[in-house]
Amino acid sequence: MIPARDALTLLQEGNRRFVSETSNRDAIAGRARRLELASSQAPFATILGCSDSRVPVEIVFDQGLGDLFVIRVAGNIIAPSLIGSVEFAAEQFGTRLVVILGHTQCGAIQGTLEQLQRPVENQSRNLRSIVDLIRPSVEGLLATKLARDRPALIHEAVRANIRASVKQLRHGSDVIEQLIQTAGLTVVGAEYSLETGVVEFFDGMPE
Ligand SMILES: [Zn+2]
Repeated sequence: MIPARDALTLLQEGNRRFVSETSNRDAIAGRARRLELASSQAPFATILGCSDSRVPVEIVFDQGLGDLFVIRVAGNIIAPSLIGSVEFAAEQFGTRLVVILGHTQCGAIQGTLEQLQRPVENQSRNLRSIVDLIRPSVEGLLATKLARDRPALIHEAVRANIRASVKQLRHGSDVIEQLIQTAGLTVVGAEYSLETGVVEFFDGMPE
C-alpha cells in the first residue's frame, strides 16, 4: 500500500515528465507490464476527472497500466455510483489518495453558467442531472462582480466546483469518512491547465 503523500509525489513527478516531454510510454504500457498485471492490480491513486478529451488522466500524469484507478464524468461531479467506485478502490486495492481533477475551460462548467444565465428549455433530464450537481457551487458567483468578467468567472467556477466535489466526496459515505479518519485516505483537489499541461494541486493538500 502506498501512503497518500508518496502517491501525490508520484503524480507530481509524472506531471513534470509530461510537461517536459520526457515520458517513456513503452516502459509503462508495454507487453511485459501488461502480462505482469493480468492477474492483479494495485493502483496507487484514484483520480476522479472530467471526461474532456483533452485531459486523459494517465497521459497527463505519465502513468501506465495498473497505476491509476480512473473515474471520468463530465464536470468531475460527485454522484452515488462514483462514490461507490472510490470506495471500491480504497477497499479492494488499498488506494489511499483520491484526486478530484478539474481543468481550465471546462465545458460542463461553462454550460452550467450559460444555463443559469439563459435557461434552455427541453434540456435532457440526464444532462440536467449534471448541471444540477454543478449549479450549487457556481451560482453564487453570478451575484458577484465576476459575472461581468467571463474568463475570471469561469476560472473561479472551475475551482469552486472542484472544491465542492472534494468536500462532497469526503462526506460521501460512512465508509469514506471512516477511511479518512482511521486509514489515511486523503482527498485533494487539482486543476489541469489545457494551455500549459501543468496540474496544480490546490485543495486539501496534506501538510
Ligand atoms: Zn470538463
